[in-house]
Amino acid sequence: MCKGSAITIFVILFTLFLLYYEMDYEIGWLRILSKTSSFIAISTLSMSFVLSIRIRLIEVLFKGLDRAYIVHQILGRSSLFFMLMHPILLAASYGWDKDIMSIYFIPGKSLYHTLGLLSVITVIALVALTICFNYKYDIWLYTHRLMIFALPLAILHSIELGSEMEYEPLQYWVIFVSIVGMISYAYKVLLYNRIGSKSQFTIEGISYRGDITEMSLGPLEKCSDIKPGQFFFVRFPDIGGEMHPFSVSKIDKKQSLRFSIKRSGDYTSEKLLNLNIGDRATLYGPYGMFFEDAHSGQENVYFVAGGIGITPFLAYLNSFDGKGNKNIRLIWTVSNIEEAVYEQELEELQTSIEGFSYEIWLSKINGRLRAKDVFDLYGEDERGNLWVYICGPGNLNHALSADFYSMGIPASNIKVEYFTLK
Ligand SMILES: Cc1cc2nc3c(=O)[nH]c(=O)nc-3n(C[C@H](O)[C@H](O)[C@H](O)COP(=O)(O)OP(=O)(O)OC[C@H]3O[C@@H](n4cnc5c(N)ncnc54)[C@H](O)[C@@H]3O)c2cc1C
Repeated sequence: MCKGSAITIFVILFTLFLLYYEMDYEIGWLRILSKTSSFIAISTLSMSFVLSIRIRLIEVLFKGLDRAYIVHQILGRSSLFFMLMHPILLAASYGWDKDIMSIYFIPGKSLYHTLGLLSVITVIALVALTICFNYKYDIWLYTHRLMIFALPLAILHSIELGSEMEYEPLQYWVIFVSIVGMISYAYKVLLYNRIGSKSQFTIEGISYRGDITEMSLGPLEKCSDIKPGQFFFVRFPDIGGEMHPFSVSKIDKKQSLRFSIKRSGDYTSEKLLNLNIGDRATLYGPYGMFFEDAHSGQENVYFVAGGIGITPFLAYLNSFDGKGNKNIRLIWTVSNIEEAVYEQELEELQTSIEGFSYEIWLSKINGRLRAKDVFDLYGEDERGNLWVYICGPGNLNHALSADFYSMGIPASNIKVEYFTLK
């Protein structure tokens, strides 16, 4: 388990420890569970805000911003579950008494119960929107940000109505955790654009390969060291304020960066096409720790790329200095051969890097790639001594990492880069 997850679990358990220390156990198990739910909900919601900030510390603690976002998502959904359970368990503890239920579930009967109810409704509405509707990302982002209102409402509700909050250590701890959550949120929404670590670049070249827009960006100022496998949140002021994450697909010696951007939605298929050479780019980052351990004597390495997930591997191979891995085998799964626009580049890398070989897997012809197919292609390495790096769409990442694990590759040897932060 990474340090970040351990800290998150500690925050939740410590909150429960303080709650149970002062708890009146005579109130019955349903009310005990109800109170437990409410405190878990507050701590998970607060921590979910903390984990959404894009700072180096979070990245180091979770071994990658993408992993922190996965925990952020789990916490957000857990807070919804526990927020819902709180009034339901409480109503059950009163034998579903209609008068009591009306206080819990009908707004306006009591101010502080109404605040709690509003908090639950806010979270339900926003998480339901995320899960059920495939909104455009920017619309989703604006609605998602409203989530912050749930936290102060829940805190006011629990301070006023939760008898345990009279126990000062619990009260101070809960207020502290939620203030950290709210400050993190305020930083991300109000300050990150202005004070987040960023560098100015200019567009030096634009070209198109199939449905990929390739952009070469040259630095206008000194930028922090960039490692292969890292990504930036990129903003092009000439086409608006949106910021999108893209991995570097090649790092040139003068720190010019190549990005390979697949056309997928309105930003990448339309707005981006209005850019011209000489336009400015602001790059926030770099982030990412995909290849953090790649130089520590890993002899046999499989790189598995799905579609545009090839970009971090291209950056790695293009910067490869011959140290570290001995045998790198890359398998790139694409729907059809027209999508394999970097085949020529891979061919050249195969010639220049000793021990590197690649295969293209056409999923329209061969079906979905499985771990077994990779072993069939490359033969059996000693499985405990094999490292697997996977980057592609979410479903490919999940399916293949589970597949490799079930075929005997230790979880610690399977590294996955997620191309989604939602
Ligand atoms: C760490 C990381 C590295 C990535 N590297 C590359 C890359 O090298 N090349 C490439 O083509 N794509 C990459 N992506 C994916 C890329 O960010 C999305 O395809 C792009 O933002 C889609 O924007 P859109 O509006 O055109 O499409 P939409 O259809 O609006 O979005 C498609 C999906 O992209 C994600 N997304 C959209 N906008 C944002 C945003 N502002 N911030 C975060 N996520 C967003 C959401 O999950 C959304 O569901 C990467 C993503 C991540 C998280």
